[in-house]
Amino acid sequence: LEQDVARLDRLNIVGQMAANLAHEVRNPLTTVRGYLQLFGNKREFQHYKEQFTLLLDELDRTNHIITEYLALSKNKSIEMKKCNLNEIILTIHPLIKADAVSFNIETVLELGKIPNLYLDDKEIKQLILNFTRNAIEAMPSGGKLTITTTIDSKGTILSVADQGPGIPQQVLENLGKPFLTTKATGTGLGMAICYRIAHRHNAKLDINTGPAGTTINIRFETIN
Ligand code: ADP
Ligand code: MG
Repeated sequence: LEQDVARLDRLNIVGQMAANLAHEVRNPLTTVRGYLQLFGNKREFQHYKEQFTLLLDELDRTNHIITEYLALSKNKSIEMKKCNLNEIILTIHPLIKADAVSFNIETVLELGKIPNLYLDDKEIKQLILNFTRNAIEAMPSGGKLTITTTIDSKGTILSVADQGPGIPQQVLENLGKPFLTTKATGTGLGMAICYRIAHRHNAKLDINTGPAGTTINIRFETIN
């Protein structure tokens, strides 16, 4: 537990610095993106369509990295309200599917009958997207991605399962530490953010991983 607290403190410092920087950087990026899009659509630049697409993709990737750093900022307040977790999943499903199909991945939803929960829906969306992004990145040549909701005696469980190669033992032992990544262009922030979001929701992460795939479970306590 002490280790967990120290880890969160470190995260807070990193997040604070990143938040200030990110706010400053984001506005000019938005301006650049707007003009790029405008020019890219002009007839005289049609020869450079591919380059414009690449530029916009790279800007979006930059923006995504900033979003991840911002998510670590401590002062972001949590807004809990009564939510239907299945509805949240259905809202972001098209996004996940669009990502998955380009890697030949089939997305399966198994949404059970679950009670409403007190959640920050924005944070839970981000948590699910971080899990599914990792799942997709673990199956670059296809497979099945399954999102499940179910209840047991202790609460409501959301699971994201993939058929990737599993998480290496050394990574597993350190999962949740910021900047831990095995990917060439990874930020190593996704799981750190997920642990923080879980912590803020008083929810517990539990990981099952092996050579046949990985299942990430998060359990929310039922509140009456
Ligand atoms: P990133 O995705 O930017 O590398 P994350 O914090 O999301 O950072 O994940 C950290 C590391 O955990 C990944 O680099 C990867 O090695 C491992 N990992 C996470 N999820 C999975 C998964 N579903 N299958 C295999 N490895 C995973
Ligand atoms: Mg990730």
